[in-house]
Amino acid sequence: MKKISLLGATGSIGQQTLDVIRAHSDQFQLVAFSVGQNVEQAIHIASEFHVPLISVANESDVQTVKNAVPAAQVLTGAEGLEAVASESGADVLVNAVLGSVGLQPTLKAIEKGIPIAIANKETLVTAGHLVMAAAKKYNVPILPVDSEHSALFQALNGENPKQIKKLVITASGGSFRDKTRKELEGVSVEDALNHPNWSMGSKITIDSATMMNKGLEVIEAHVLFSMPYDRIEVVLHKESIIHSMIEFVDTSVMAQLGTPDMRVPIQYALTYPDRLPMGSGKSLDLTEIGKLHFEKMDYERYKALDLAIQAGKAGGTATTVLNAANEAAVDLFLKKQISFLAIDEMIEKALEQHSIIATPSLEEILATDNETRRFVQNMVH
Ligand code: NDP
Ligand code: MG
Repeated sequence: MKKISLLGATGSIGQQTLDVIRAHSDQFQLVAFSVGQNVEQAIHIASEFHVPLISVANESDVQTVKNAVPAAQVLTGAEGLEAVASESGADVLVNAVLGSVGLQPTLKAIEKGIPIAIANKETLVTAGHLVMAAAKKYNVPILPVDSEHSALFQALNGENPKQIKKLVITASGGSFRDKTRKELEGVSVEDALNHPNWSMGSKITIDSATMMNKGLEVIEAHVLFSMPYDRIEVVLHKESIIHSMIEFVDTSVMAQLGTPDMRVPIQYALTYPDRLPMGSGKSLDLTEIGKLHFEKMDYERYKALDLAIQAGKAGGTATTVLNAANEAAVDLFLKKQISFLAIDEMIEKALEQHSIIATPSLEEILATDNETRRFVQNMVH
């Protein structure tokens, strides 16, 4: 039995992780989980999986959960997230929480020697250097869950990383891929949330529409695979069948293909280096799809991707600012307080006003994250 703790159990990745655990209940056991606001769902999960340790975001929800599941220990806030991540006796942590709030629990779990299956890309963008240094120090594997990074990880299996020429990350183009930049003026939250290929949480769906998701993923790939930015390429691939590729020095290319189903990379991170059947999973039928399309990325159309790569190259706290400004701006867009195009503009302004710290400490990361969120919020309030 592999014991699993799960941050963000009520989210899109969290729910699909629970599907994987359910489908292989003879292999996996959920020993702790966290939620944000969704207390009703937390009670369901706790009852179904008999989980002894739960964290909720708000103190005011603790008693409700305790009343419903008296056998469980119920914690709250940042301490709760850290306890779920590092004090549950888990063999692996699935980090599927949203946002840079996932950073400190991840570091705590690494210090305890717990392998991390990481979906929470914001953690790697805001402080990738701290996460990777800790993983090295404590000899802890960081297993990618993001489909592109899982694809790269699978394509690299058994190869010598020194023989990589470049990483090629594919991008679906998001909900507005058929619109010009001019046509993005005035697009609604509802339109932005309508992703053509993947069903995901709202924040990442907006990130896909702005192409910031791909920007965060380029930084994530740089962090996970120690690859310089000029050897990470992004191509548009609207079918989301090739999840990413690696070109080696001899020009041979290894690609990983599959139907767009996040349960596959989630399960692979949990079973690596083995594989398990994907119960209800549909086999990929390329004859049914017929054609796969690829296009060059347009960095003027997708300005957020350009901002992300520039921040990645600048290094240090630049990616912390990029991430925090994006989180704050997407939140404002989802609350209908700013327009879609204002997201990029706010991130650009936040980056311009910031003096980069080259190798920031955890305290400097947290302070920069806070200051940036305030800076963005002050632009509207
Ligand atoms: P969701 O919005 O669906 O879920 C987010 C989860 O985090 C929920 O459980 C939510 O709790 C919890 N949460 C949010 N904010 C807080 C907070 N401040 N404190 C504690 N818990 C919080 O997100 P996704 O599942 O879509 O994404 C999760 C992560 O995985 C993101 O980093 C995303 O980029 C990444 N990812 C997602 C993919 C996808 O297909 N969805 C693909 C690849 C990566 P509650 O709902 O109870 O409030
Ligand atoms: Mg992805």
